[in-house]
Amino acid sequence: MPTLRFIGHSAFILEGEGNVVAIDPFITGNPTATISADEINPTTILLTHAHNDHVGDSVELSKRTKAPIIATFELATYLSSKGAETIGANHGGTVKFAGGSVKLTPAWHTSSYQEGDTFVAPGVPAGMIVTFAEKKFYFAGDTCLFLDMQLIGEEGIDVAVLPIGDHFTMGPADAIRAAKFLRPRVVIPCHYNTFPAIEQDTDEFKKKLEEETSAKAVILQPGEIWEVAEPTMTAADG
Ligand code: ZN
Repeated sequence: MPTLRFIGHSAFILEGEGNVVAIDPFITGNPTATISADEINPTTILLTHAHNDHVGDSVELSKRTKAPIIATFELATYLSSKGAETIGANHGGTVKFAGGSVKLTPAWHTSSYQEGDTFVAPGVPAGMIVTFAEKKFYFAGDTCLFLDMQLIGEEGIDVAVLPIGDHFTMGPADAIRAAKFLRPRVVIPCHYNTFPAIEQDTDEFKKKLEEETSAKAVILQPGEIWEVAEPTMTAADG
């Protein structure tokens, strides 16, 4: 049974059958993280975009574990220049990794990495459809609501991980509209309560989502590990 661990902010770890997939592993400097970067040993690292609160510890993790970082081409090329193992891809493309695969999708946001006062790693942001342990996850990354989420929903999403923080991404109301397009069984909110600008009430979000859609909201606390199979099955179109 695969597990999904919430590190905090937009950082997650999918784990199953010896494969450990780190998604946007912003751990060092993440005010909500309950672990340190040296406590995880990813076999694959997936990045949605270049913002520092998503790239996080990726380069150090890749150097230590030899896990490849899969990201859009420009970001992958930049991180490769820093010594990471990388696989560059782009929207619409599917890349296999140990234990699963990832298909990059569009996301409406910006993407750059900040080094001091300089912004580097040009390119575009992505979302990700991740197939892992026979489940399909959609990690929206940082994005606003967009109608093409309907196309992503046609792929049969089990678990949609959506930002709800507002200000830099869609907020709770648009995340509920996204769930109507995506039709997942489970919605897991992220990208909230890390900083004052993105504080949100997850109880209110869960109540409204479950009133307005057939999806179940699973609210994870930083550090919490969720066993994917059981809630997905019991939430079926309920
Ligand atoms: Zn961002």
